[in-house]
Amino acid sequence: MTAPSFDFATAHRLVFGAGRATELPSLIDGWGSRALVFTGTRPERHEQLLGALPVPFEVVTVGGEPTVEMARDAVRTGRTSGADVVIAIGGGSAVDLGKAVAALLGNGGDPLDFLEVIGRGLPITAPSVPYIAVPTTAGTGSEVSANAVLASPEHRRKASLRSPFMLPRVALVDPLLTLGCPPAVTASSGLDALTQCLEPFVCPQATPLTDGFAAEGLRRAGQSLRTAFRDGSDVPARTDMALASLLGGLSLANAKLGAVHGFAGVIGGIVDAAHGAVCAALLAPVVEVNVRALGERDAGSHALVRYAQAARLLTSRSEATIGDGVEWLRETVRSLGIPGLATLGVRREDLEDIIENARTASSMRGNPITLTDTELREVLATSFG
Ligand SMILES: [Zn+2]
Repeated sequence: MTAPSFDFATAHRLVFGAGRATELPSLIDGWGSRALVFTGTRPERHEQLLGALPVPFEVVTVGGEPTVEMARDAVRTGRTSGADVVIAIGGGSAVDLGKAVAALLGNGGDPLDFLEVIGRGLPITAPSVPYIAVPTTAGTGSEVSANAVLASPEHRRKASLRSPFMLPRVALVDPLLTLGCPPAVTASSGLDALTQCLEPFVCPQATPLTDGFAAEGLRRAGQSLRTAFRDGSDVPARTDMALASLLGGLSLANAKLGAVHGFAGVIGGIVDAAHGAVCAALLAPVVEVNVRALGERDAGSHALVRYAQAARLLTSRSEATIGDGVEWLRETVRSLGIPGLATLGVRREDLEDIIENARTASSMRGNPITLTDTELREVLATSFG
């Protein structure tokens, strides 16, 4: 192991705790004169919070994963109304779109000027307008990451706007806001959170800080994901999952992800399925193939030690092996009702294109070992049905 040397960046302020969403009005007091608020499709769920805001505001509802066009429309709304503060109260889609729009309001220009891969990739040079992210699902950790993912249906790709300027000014995480999440959303977002703790934990870019966060996230997700799915009103389980999501966000934003997200980013551009469900379908197959590949080509890799630790953290059993961990993942994904990639909309004729694009996806560079095309194909085949 080399001597630690790392950067760590996050939201300017993290506010976490049951019931703390009520602090939203005082947190943004003095930030500006007019807000643009992003919510899911039912803003009336947040009537009380919105009614207490200290500034006038427009609401943009976000149905489905955000697209380039949705960002353009919202920027237009924000510019027309003179919005100088952005608030997102919602799942990963609302939080990502709010983050993208806060950056565009601060920088001017079109999303395609700054988007990686499919756009011009120009650097974002000015701060976002002040932005507060209030997640209502426990999954993406987007409230503490410096990028926003937008889909471009015309390119059949998803890509990121990315800049340290995009880190929210405040991440306000209140587990009580997740109590209303239906089981299917709890399942897909919770398995995304778990994956976002596991991939940074085994990636070569892990740091002593991300290790601590990721391990704690794995322990809490292992302890509470199934409970939160079975009984959505269980506040301690919801609190564990809100923390796992936050810890995953802190980890991925300061280390890297891996093959699950390398594939999921590409697949998300071609099918309209929940990101977390796509990750969940890939999770056990990726771990299994990674562990075998490491055993064959890099048996001394620290990632194998990490996979064994992760197995113990997830199962809460001190004697658990990597195989037990894989079995726990497979059984959890199954019991949470996540189907294979075929049911999520992936067609057999898309598989070779997916491999072609996933090979160069930025998350793939965080995978603990470079997988061969045969191994990538095997992951997709095992995740498919
Ligand atoms: Zn994810």
